[in-house]
Amino acid sequence: MIALYIILGILAVLALLVLAAVIRTCLTPSKTSEWEPKKDPAREQEYAEKLAKMVRFPTVSYKGQIQREKFLEFHQILEELFPLVHSHLEKTEIDGSLLFYWKGKHADKPIVLMGHQDVVPAEGSWEHDPFSGDIEDGKIWGRGTADTKCSVMSFLQAVEELLKEGYVPEQDVYLASSNTEEVAGDGCPKLVAELKRRGVRPYIVNDEGGSIVTEPMAGLKGNFAMIGVLEKGQGNLKVIARSNGGHSSYPPKNSPIVRLSRFVTDLSKHSPMRSEMNTQAKEMFENLAPYGPFWMRLLFGNLWLFKPLLERLMPSISAQAAALLHTTVAPTMQSGSDGCNVLPQEATLTLNLRYIPHQNMEESNAAIRERAKKYNLEVEVMDAYPAYEPVDAHSSAFQLVEDTIAEVFPKLPPIPYVMTGGTDARFFQEICDACIRFSPVVYGPAQMKGMHGLNEYLDTYSLPGAVDYYKTLIRKNS
Ligand SMILES: [Zn+2]
Repeated sequence: MIALYIILGILAVLALLVLAAVIRTCLTPSKTSEWEPKKDPAREQEYAEKLAKMVRFPTVSYKGQIQREKFLEFHQILEELFPLVHSHLEKTEIDGSLLFYWKGKHADKPIVLMGHQDVVPAEGSWEHDPFSGDIEDGKIWGRGTADTKCSVMSFLQAVEELLKEGYVPEQDVYLASSNTEEVAGDGCPKLVAELKRRGVRPYIVNDEGGSIVTEPMAGLKGNFAMIGVLEKGQGNLKVIARSNGGHSSYPPKNSPIVRLSRFVTDLSKHSPMRSEMNTQAKEMFENLAPYGPFWMRLLFGNLWLFKPLLERLMPSISAQAAALLHTTVAPTMQSGSDGCNVLPQEATLTLNLRYIPHQNMEESNAAIRERAKKYNLEVEVMDAYPAYEPVDAHSSAFQLVEDTIAEVFPKLPPIPYVMTGGTDARFFQEICDACIRFSPVVYGPAQMKGMHGLNEYLDTYSLPGAVDYYKTLIRKNS
């Protein structure tokens, strides 16, 4: 009887809390995202033509290959397109990666604008040839238009225009462009080493990552500036099962592939990774909530009540939402014996992990090792790096980016954003506290599909805003 009263009491308290959340939601005004890209045909055409020339040169990078000569040829195109940048800034070239230095009046808050020159290969059949750079119906087509020659073109053009005005920046400006981002090569680390050698500690690094995203979540209408503040770490683990072989006509019970299969099934059914809504994910959802329908405003606008529930529910609703809350584990490669009738003496499975700060590299790898032991498997770390310290969304550097967005894209909501993919910006984290991942161009569903996929294109209306964003950021950094 007492137990029943306790349960009824708990239910009554819960009902009151939910009622409080509902009332709070009803009393909080909802918001709408009002910014729409403006048309500016003359500037769009000028910038699209420059971007087209960059896209027509296929700067595909391949793992393990230094293709300096190819990138030097590409640099000649940049020199033709941005002559003032090349005559006024100090240029350093390292194995095909580029670093420009623009001396400002002061050097205590240097800024680095960056984007990679290389692109992924373009396979399959495309509506427009992937290296055509066709400009048609307000779109520019080709590999690299969205990822990310658009930002490289835009910051070079921004500096070109400022130089034309005779502008001298208040603070030192660096333009950085690696040629190995798509293959996780050493282009960017070499640029960072060069800056370290010069004793440069950037105040802000502005790389790709987030962007102006149309409808970033189901239920949200309009455009949002998704500013990447947290990038997950990444590692590849090789899981090895060994045995003495045997004959496939009388297979033993626990042969290597059987053990690996049990292990990977166990991992997918009972993940050892903890789901938790960290500060960055929390800030992202809280900032998005007012723009959503009632259910979104209720759940994400009252995380003081619903956070534990969402931490449990979100992973089963969507893989993308799950990736924001825990270290992900993706089995990617397998190997066994060389013959259909040969039991392997050694079979392997590769796991690709994306680490979250609350269960970072060491802890996640240990959890995998622990589980592997149960199946008599060995684990080797092939390569790995942890999730680094996130950018503080209340810092002056983040505020500067927000102010720039407010000026160039009025009424576009700025949202701190948790990224699940990787960028070159991570290499800068050892010398900079504010590595902000934001490309100031509009990415709708077509761009999300096109990047690394078929039919990559960018709407030309994105380009004037992107050039203005970089110009304004340089001007505001005083
Ligand atoms: Zn990219």
